[in-house]
Order: sequence, then C-alpha cells, then structure tokens
Amino acid sequence: MQTKAGFAGSVGNTPLIRIDSLSDETGCEILGKAEFMNPGGSVKDRAALWIVREHEKSGSLKSGGTVVEGTAGNTGIGIVHVCNARGYKTVIYMPDNQSKEKVDILRTLGAEVRVVKAVPYADDMNYQKQAGRYAASIEGGVWANQFDNLANTQSHFESTGPEIWAQTDGKLDAFTCAVGTGGTISGISQYLKTQKNPPKIVLADPYGSALFNWVTTGEASMTPGPSITEGIGNSRITQNLATAKIDSAVQVHDTEMVKMVYRMLREDGWFFGSSTGINLCAAVKIAKEMGPGHTIVTILCDAGHKYQSTLFNPSFLVAKGLSTN
Ligand code: PMP
Repeated sequence: MQTKAGFAGSVGNTPLIRIDSLSDETGCEILGKAEFMNPGGSVKDRAALWIVREHEKSGSLKSGGTVVEGTAGNTGIGIVHVCNARGYKTVIYMPDNQSKEKVDILRTLGAEVRVVKAVPYADDMNYQKQAGRYAASIEGGVWANQFDNLANTQSHFESTGPEIWAQTDGKLDAFTCAVGTGGTISGISQYLKTQKNPPKIVLADPYGSALFNWVTTGEASMTPGPSITEGIGNSRITQNLATAKIDSAVQVHDTEMVKMVYRMLREDGWFFGSSTGINLCAAVKIAKEMGPGHTIVTILCDAGHKYQSTLFNPSFLVAKGLSTN
C-alpha cells in the first residue's frame, strides 16, 4: 500500500510539471513545481506546517492552544488546516482590502476571522502587528509571524529545495519566483546554492513593490503600481527574504500576467492564480534571455478558484483596463 500520513503527511512532494506551450515556444524546459496540489491548495501549506511544528517543539504551543496570524489568505488557510488536524484554535487577522472569497473560506474552515482596516506596516494598527499583540495577550496563544519567522524559510530549505534538485537530477539553469514573505525563494535558493553547479536565482516582482529595486540597486524603493496580484510584492525586506541568495530580478506587468493565466487556461488546461502568472512570465523572460536548451524551474503557487471575483471576473478586468488576450 502507498499511503500518506494524514494532512501533515500530505504536504509537499508535489509533482514538477512541464508547461508544454511555453517550453515548446522557447525551446527551453519550463517546469512548474505544482504547489497548488498541496492539501490546503497552496505553497503556504509547507510554511504553515513548519511554523506550527516549531511552536510545538519549543513548547510554546500546547494542547488546546491558539495559533494567531495576520495573513491575506493562503498562510491562514494552511494554518487552519494544520491546526484543525492537531486540535488547536485559530484566529486570523486580515486587512479589509482582501477578496470576500478568502474571508469566507477561512470562516468555513473554522477560523475566527477579524477583518481590520488596511493600514501600512509602519502603523501600529497594521493587521500583522495586531495579530502579534493579540497572541501575546491570550493564555496559550502563539503568533505564527510568517514574515519574520525563519521556520517559513526552513520549510522550503528542507522540502521544496531538495525536491526540485532531485526531480531535475540537479540539471536546472535557473529558478525564479515572486516573493511575499520571501520564505519560498529564501529556502529554495539557500538549498540550491549549496549544490554543485547551482542555478541562477531570479526574483520575479509585480509592479507596486520594492523588491525589484532592492535586488537591482540595493535600495528597497517602491516601483509604480498598483498590481491586482495577491500574496506577492512587498515594501520591506523581511527576515526571511534577507537570507535569500538572489542573483537578479525581473519585473512583470499585470497586462502580461493576465494574458499568461488565460493562455494557461485556454492552451494548456491549467487554472492558476495571479502569482503563478507572474512566475511563468518571469520564466519565459529568462528562457528568452538564456536561449534554447535551458531548464527553468518556477512555482505554481495556487489555483484560480480564490480569484473568481477578480482575475476571473470580466467586469473587474475591464475596470482595471486589463485584457485577457
Ligand atoms: N503566491 C501566493 C498565492 C501566496 O499566497 C504567496 C504567499 N503570500 C506567495 C506566492 C509568496 O510566497 P512567499 O510568502 O513564500 O514569498
């Protein structure tokens, strides 16, 4: 029998998928790590599991305890799944500029969701800071703190990075992905850069984020936005991102990203979210720069279902001046 051990045992070991249309067009192998196939539906299941386990190991999270997090979506979803399976309560702080689908799904899963006013990180009432304060104020509460908790990076150093290396037999020329907390790029880049002949690591950034400038000029200054992407881009260098080993960066505009997700749907049969669209656009740019015969790996972060009212809503796209082809 080939079985997996419950929810936790089903996180990770995702397939590495050849994206046919993009590979054929560029003459490169464009491969996507299918993180949308994690049991909670995104790349963040790994970070959620590692963060909860670390709090258990340190003794800060005990039976009947509560995990509190400030999250715009996927991390919260991962945390609630993991906590339900282990008997913990969850309280999720979310800014009020997020889609209703995400609030609904978190409540359906069983989290107590507190929607708070969206204010910048520097403001004391920022959703992440409120989450930290609330966790400290309750008996048995812990703060997941995905942005600056290095268990997030560790999850990708111990699982995603080695999986990619094994699945490509160590033959990859570049790895690229967008950054929210930075856990994915940091853990994967740290692992790959310790191998023989490591690939080039390229940060993919939407507009309206400071990370492209940070990589290319050393200064984290914002580029003009906004972007309709969710879960990626940042105005600050988190403790997770600070540990990444990055060689260069590319910027991807929403116009290209929207065309890419619809192309995936129509030509390849995939239903991806916006950060995956950014990642695939970045992979194609790198393939064109490197020329045919190279292997480029990226992350297929989540599926399109959570973006029904935005990315997959024709009137939303029209209002934003975006076209699907
Ligand atoms: N894509 C999606 C859909 C996400 O939710 C996130 C996490 N916010 C990311 C990409 C970025 O991953 P990371 O936080 O590891 O940088």
